Amino acid sequence: MSSKKNNLSKSTLIRSMQCSKSLYLYKNSYHLRDKAGITQQQRFDRGHRVGKLAHQLFPNGKDCSPPNPFSYDESIAATKLLIQQRYPVIYEAAFKHNGVLAALDIIEFRDGKFYAYEVKSSFRISNTYLLDAAIQYYIITQSGIPLEDFSLVTINNEYVMTETLEVNTFFKKTSVLEEIKERIPFIQKSIEDAIAILDKPEAPEVNIGSHCTKPYPCDFQGYCWKDIEKASIWYLPGISMQEKTTLVATGLTNIEEIQNTESLNQRQKIILETYRSQLPYIEKEKIKNFIADIKYPLYFFDVEAFQPAIPLFKNTQPYDRIPFLYSLHYKASDAEVLYHESYISPIGNDARIHFIEHFLTSTQREGTILVFNALMEKGILYKLAEAFPVYKKEIYDRINRIVDIEIPFKELYYYHPAQQGSFSLKAVGNALLGRDEFVKSHVKDGEEAMAVYNELFYMNDEIKVEEQLRALKTYCKTDTYVLFEIFEQLVKLSEY
Ligand code: SF4
Repeated sequence: MSSKKNNLSKSTLIRSMQCSKSLYLYKNSYHLRDKAGITQQQRFDRGHRVGKLAHQLFPNGKDCSPPNPFSYDESIAATKLLIQQRYPVIYEAAFKHNGVLAALDIIEFRDGKFYAYEVKSSFRISNTYLLDAAIQYYIITQSGIPLEDFSLVTINNEYVMTETLEVNTFFKKTSVLEEIKERIPFIQKSIEDAIAILDKPEAPEVNIGSHCTKPYPCDFQGYCWKDIEKASIWYLPGISMQEKTTLVATGLTNIEEIQNTESLNQRQKIILETYRSQLPYIEKEKIKNFIADIKYPLYFFDVEAFQPAIPLFKNTQPYDRIPFLYSLHYKASDAEVLYHESYISPIGNDARIHFIEHFLTSTQREGTILVFNALMEKGILYKLAEAFPVYKKEIYDRINRIVDIEIPFKELYYYHPAQQGSFSLKAVGNALLGRDEFVKSHVKDGEEAMAVYNELFYMNDEIKVEEQLRALKTYCKTDTYVLFEIFEQLVKLSEY
């Protein structure tokens, strides 16, 4: 290892397996990284909370977490001491071998043997998790601690919350020792490769490609992609990153250069054509048929939900969608004014019953309920019908009145080049209306809304909480207003 700056860790090794340039930039040009958004921060916090909860599986351990991310030497020394003392349980233990650092969630000393546990806040075990575990196993055993077994602790997808959270049934332990052993030669080679990359005077030349998003979205995309022209194949919408990589490998760089469209499907051909002509693609008859069945009175409806990894309420499961906010615009007839109302659940208690009662009262007048992407709204309503059978009949009535405004866009009755391959409400709305109604919204999309609301459960500042609740309501109201505008535009398109 050439210098302390070039020290590696589990996460930098995983980074180097995805892209050698990403490792080099991370170590030498850290300031070029994209700023982490609230969604990424929330994912990180969630992992931290789940990890802490898993400590309860092995009570009375000593915590070796570093006081800050630059003080791992203290953690390594504290871990070493506790290992020498054969302390029964250590949390956030840290080890180093040949300049590579690996922290481990839990190490247990039982019946004269060491057992390692790494906690993951998901249901399934991915190849990246196994590589992660293999790095930890390799570093721990190479630093002189023999491990009897290594397990991944994941969340049990069948767990249902009762009065209190039962950690023993919430988590699932799976030994992955055999899978780890198969990966050790690869880990050894990856460490050698990573050291060689960091010893170079300049960043390795790596073209952009599907590795920029898989298995993780790289945080140097802002840097590497900044000079890519808008006409580049990389910005061709409607085609997967893998397909783009294949096209680029054939020597094509610009969208205009694509002559042979035989390998493209009908959808991709339409998107390519609209890109070239910069004109929308319109199937007027299909739009007309779709609109013909939609009659006033109309509701324009949108729900926001969050998905806590650790259930907060009785009878819910990990990552269940818990609705917390809806917006409803209502128009009795073409000539009537647009009326609006919304509901947001207070932070802290299970308010799903109030949520559904409010929604049922608000939609008791007849009328079609228009949504954008019915899967989400219907899925949430079905779950609520299951949770509150007393309202099942009424909820099913509302479900049967739902019509999905996403259909004409998803089925390509209409496509505008400004959508840039996206079929989200925001992309469709911006393209169809020629303006961005969300420009003033602090919350940018549904994923961010989920992250913002989830964070409120752990926030103590009441003023900040109120501010965020208002921002969420504004976002959701904009959603249903845009939905109304999209509907009006579809009516016009069917008439002209
Ligand atoms: S954006 Fe792509 S090419 Fe650039 S460092 Fe990340 S993965 Fe590598």
